[in-house]
Amino acid sequence: KGTAGLSPDTVALIERRKRTLGTLGPLFYNRPIHVVRGSGAHLFDADGVDYLDCYNNVACVGHANAHVREAVADQLAKQDTHSRYLQDEVLDYAERLLALFPEGLDRVSFTNSGSESNDLALRMARVYSGHQGVVVTANAYHGITALVSSVSPSFGTAIPLAPFLATVEVHDVLTGDMPADRVRAVLRERFVAAFRKLHDAGYGVSAVLLDQIFSSDGVLPGAQGWVADVADMAHRAGGLLIADEVQSGFARTGDAFWGFQRHHADADLVTIGKPMGNGIPTGAVVYKAAIGDAFAACTRYFNTFGGNPVSMRAAEAVLDEIESRGLLKQAKTVGDYICDGFASLLAGRPKLGQIRHAGMFIGIDIRSDDGSRPDPAGTQAIVDALRDRDILISASGADGSALKVRPPLVFTTADADRLLAAIGELRDLGYFG
Ligand code: PMP
Repeated sequence: KGTAGLSPDTVALIERRKRTLGTLGPLFYNRPIHVVRGSGAHLFDADGVDYLDCYNNVACVGHANAHVREAVADQLAKQDTHSRYLQDEVLDYAERLLALFPEGLDRVSFTNSGSESNDLALRMARVYSGHQGVVVTANAYHGITALVSSVSPSFGTAIPLAPFLATVEVHDVLTGDMPADRVRAVLRERFVAAFRKLHDAGYGVSAVLLDQIFSSDGVLPGAQGWVADVADMAHRAGGLLIADEVQSGFARTGDAFWGFQRHHADADLVTIGKPMGNGIPTGAVVYKAAIGDAFAACTRYFNTFGGNPVSMRAAEAVLDEIESRGLLKQAKTVGDYICDGFASLLAGRPKLGQIRHAGMFIGIDIRSDDGSRPDPAGTQAIVDALRDRDILISASGADGSALKVRPPLVFTTADADRLLAAIGELRDLGYFG
């Protein structure tokens, strides 16, 4: 994106990165940030600048969390080997994790990432159902393995998507002012059409795989209950519901510990990752026992690092922190506070579209000056202007026209005030029309 205005150190780092990591992994922002340490919801660069991190759901219990660090250090001093021995740590965590799920979701297999979790869940659903077809939303992102990327339309179609994939558009109905029962009826029709397409093509339906906050589709928490309808329909079609909780899990949505619980959906498999270890790589698939038994009857599952004791101790420390610090409640109260702040600062501005949120997962549509259409360029300009004020957020949605605010759960009202002060400044500079 050009190097004008960048310090010589930053330019040198960008060059080193290109020479070693190549160009596959894009950096955030026109002026990339050289992060050297963190604390709570704050990141600090090499010059000591304090950035407010409004975009990080991995460090859910805060950057450099002391409780997680101590648990990891303690376990590293004991042992960290793979899961083919009897170990307490994996069982202690498994019991604690499963207690957070509704009855029936009573088995767990550990992975190292959200992508691995979705890959395993899709394979389990295929074996259990005997079908191949998969249904996702129109701009879904579910990860990077060969299978999972082939059912992630947000990658585009330069590499063909899976032939056994059907997609359903949900953004239009979940962002409009349609009454909830009508939304549910429209979505039922669309999913029936997707199931029919897969049946007619001979694939059948193995799974509907749904991010429970629809993050890459633009952050779509609305019309609670429609996912429950889809689960029931998937079951009637011989398939399963995989709830992808990589984004929405671990208290993020403020209403319940898991996003699918907001919809009262009968999920068969639940995939988790990102915030689970607060940065220590770990993920899991939680599922109904019969699904795991069917899979075990045909194949085996061994994952060298999955469920390793260090990751399990980190994950346990994350649960300790969420519970002892009341972060489910904080997700709700601070999430509401941020949204109320946006609404009152920008009231009457045509560029402000809909504000959608569940807990600390917030999407804010930015529209053209006359309010008539989405404004991806204007959205990006706001993201970059906030970065220039040391505030880190990003954009979401198929066209990138929604601001996405998704801070660590330890984000406080004082942090929110700093974000809102910057928004007020941008408003006065004309960024919101
Ligand atoms: N599912 C969803 C909904 C995600 O947002 C992501 C990551 N952005 C993944 C799965 C993949 O997780 P990971 O990057 O840990 O493999």
